[in-house]
Amino acid sequence: MSTGRTDIPVRLIADVFERIEVITSRIQMTALLVTLFKQTPPEIIDRVVYLIQGRLWPDWKELPELGVGEKLLVKAIALATNSSEAQVEDLAKSLGDLGKVAEQLKSRISGRQQGVTLFSFTQQQPELTVNKVYDTLVRVAMAQGEGSKDLKIRLLAGLLREASPKEAKFIVRFVEGRLRVGIGEATVMDALAITYGGGVAARQVIERAYNLRADLGKVAKILALNGLEALRNVRPEVGVPIRPMLAERLSDPKEILEKVGGDAFIEYKYDGERAQIHKKDDKVWIFSRRLENITHQYPDVVELARDHLKAREVIVEGEIVAYDLDTGELKPFQELMHRKRKHEVRTVLKEYPVKVFLFDLLYADGRDYTIEPLPVRRGKLLEIVDRTEEFTVAEYIRTSDVKELEKFFLKAISDGAEGVMVKALHDGSIYQAGTRGWLWIKFKRDYRSEMIDTVDLVVVGAFYGKGRRGGKYGALLMAAYNDEKDVFETVCKVGSGFKDEDLDKLPEILKPYIRDRKSPRVVAEMEPDVWVEPALVAEIIGAELTLSPIHTCAYGRIKSDAGLSIRFPRFIRWRPDKRPEDATTSNELVEMYNQQLKKIAGESKPVEEA
Ligand code: ATP
Repeated sequence: MSTGRTDIPVRLIADVFERIEVITSRIQMTALLVTLFKQTPPEIIDRVVYLIQGRLWPDWKELPELGVGEKLLVKAIALATNSSEAQVEDLAKSLGDLGKVAEQLKSRISGRQQGVTLFSFTQQQPELTVNKVYDTLVRVAMAQGEGSKDLKIRLLAGLLREASPKEAKFIVRFVEGRLRVGIGEATVMDALAITYGGGVAARQVIERAYNLRADLGKVAKILALNGLEALRNVRPEVGVPIRPMLAERLSDPKEILEKVGGDAFIEYKYDGERAQIHKKDDKVWIFSRRLENITHQYPDVVELARDHLKAREVIVEGEIVAYDLDTGELKPFQELMHRKRKHEVRTVLKEYPVKVFLFDLLYADGRDYTIEPLPVRRGKLLEIVDRTEEFTVAEYIRTSDVKELEKFFLKAISDGAEGVMVKALHDGSIYQAGTRGWLWIKFKRDYRSEMIDTVDLVVVGAFYGKGRRGGKYGALLMAAYNDEKDVFETVCKVGSGFKDEDLDKLPEILKPYIRDRKSPRVVAEMEPDVWVEPALVAEIIGAELTLSPIHTCAYGRIKSDAGLSIRFPRFIRWRPDKRPEDATTSNELVEMYNQQLKKIAGESKPVEEA
């Protein structure tokens, strides 16, 4: 264990979590982090960043999770506090959370110990440090196979024994995964900019580096050890995911073409799973849209990539789509989900075959292509992909003609795609990692209702049901993401569209995220029965977007005393592939509202469905 200058007491982190339970503004939260970072030696800033994000490493690393369920945790707390498991469980029922249980049981003991210490002058225990906690938690995660449960319990109990009550609460909540959603990465980046970059202006450089290498701990370490200039020179690295570029949406083809500068590539928008494929010699990684490592789910794609990407080191992006072996036809996204649920890989490969349609190239043999315009990236993509039926480049045309766009859109739909992506190809058409922008515009088929498209919103609260839904949750408070302020702003209360089984599962789904009070990242006027930490994303459709004085989404932007809301919202499905920060943004809802107004005014005509 390191000590002295390359370590700090873990108490400093536990303090931050204790304070954010009661503070309400992001500015205060950032200030707390700046104070913490200033006390942190650069050598361990990565560990501190991971710990405050409630993790040991980025999720995409092929490393095990902690693997400690509620039962093991109860055992560890009991062992560390000389209590029985029944005592721990009883207390959990009345306090509602194991973190508080550990805190309370520990404070009883430390009260006793203090008494003893006063009389016997025994030496005080050394403080628990970040490295000690981090290294021990890594050992907990790494303990696998026979006997690992006991080892995990012993390691955790050991830590808890040395911890103060407040530290015990922090450690238990960390293990439970409760801290994962508390502090947003945007806030961490702001605090890093202030601490090491001389002010918020440095935030841009940090964000760009993070977009290219989605490992905030490592980005923080480069910054803390080598300075802002070193961060400016960061380039993509094979094996480390790049945060995906995202599209805006519009419903008028003429306007879409104008917006991207007239001339454009029009590509099929496939309805599958986004995949960022990295290859270095024979090693292949596949990362999902939310940057999870999904390599093991697609051994067939790994093989295809290995055989058909003709570069030693390369990062490409595409869509993995399920198809029918007999007819060759593409199947919708839901089909892929069946594949994910099955575990026997060999049957999966036969029952749910997939095709890969590549649409971008970000890095090849030492060259960073994210800074190149789309035609250069596409040229290189066509050069390095040895195209086959299963592994190919997305269907596309190049045009500046609205009629051709509409024709291609209808062809895309009849071929099983969701619509088209219209992509700018001028000199500025770089790959904007981690950004939703107007260089890509999606044009989808869903025009059945006044609302142009479904939206993805984040659960921030829940309401108890009445009547037939008594004793369960009956509705959810949903919010959009305000990416400028890193907060979630409420849009609607949704109670329709749920099947009985969805409602039955709600308590279990929400349980890990229930909070005593509103998260500082949520902006709300409406008071739900319970507050929920922003973590879960659901797809919602409604009749139309309206103004509402009780919702806070884009409040004051369209009308001084109103926000945006959805009339007759309906739950469609969960979107586990999205993080809360991937939800529809408040800005996008403003755009959609404006589109809707235009449509009502008859200024734009949607394309007929095929
Ligand atoms: P949606 O919810 O409509 O699927 P999204 O929010 O996941 O969209 P968007 O940026 O809005 O992401 O739409 C782009 C998504 O469409 C990509 O994430 C990718 O999965 C998929 N896609 C399919 N075909 C293409 C293509 N040719 N180019 C880019 N993305 C494509």
